[in-house]
Amino acid sequence: MYNIILAKSALELIPEEIKDKIKKSRVYKYDILDSNYHYRAMEELIDKRMRGRPDIVHISLLNILDSPINHERKLNIYVHTYDDKVLKINPEVRLPRNYFRFLGVMEDVLKGKRNPLIKMEEKSLEELLNDINAKKIALMTKQGKLTHPKLLKEYDTFIIGGFPYGKLKIDKDKVLGDIEEIAIYDKGLMAWTVCGIICYTLSF
Ligand code: SAH
Repeated sequence: MYNIILAKSALELIPEEIKDKIKKSRVYKYDILDSNYHYRAMEELIDKRMRGRPDIVHISLLNILDSPINHERKLNIYVHTYDDKVLKINPEVRLPRNYFRFLGVMEDVLKGKRNPLIKMEEKSLEELLNDINAKKIALMTKQGKLTHPKLLKEYDTFIIGGFPYGKLKIDKDKVLGDIEEIAIYDKGLMAWTVCGIICYTLSF
């Protein structure tokens, strides 16, 4: 089994401190932060450039779920969010293809409503790595050691940042497993592309 983790993902409920700046519209009626619709309200928010991009999680999960390695049932899939929630995604879940329907599902899960195929827990990335007993961890980043994808099979756990800008920070001292910083290309790629490349190469 391999573990794939979208980390510090830009998926969260609208934070308390900007709630009063946001009016629900007929187009966007969700309680999930989306920088496309909440751009103004997000101006004062810390780390605003790495937050409010649920579409990154949506497209990444669609890519992961339909990869051959997932059809072989060899993946544990996790989404860790900016505010330290962890969603364990059942490999057989049929996620909505439509973005707004996806938001509807995620809103219920983040609000604590029970979903048999998506389980939510409050947990840091470091706690998650220890709980799942991750041993050889590939922390994916364009600044890492350039590595041919066929060598990725040597790792048991892959961490991809589920956000558009910035670098993933991780407290290595708190993690029991071995962490290596790995690049698969010398330029920045979108999270969903990196997820796709990892999942497809693991199958063959
Ligand atoms: N573009 C920025 C951050 C966001 S990209 C950067 O790479 O610094 C989202 C995630 O995709 C990153 O956190 C990283 O995990 C992964 N990623 C992007 N480009 C990569 C590359 N060339 N090699 C490995 N992982 C990469």
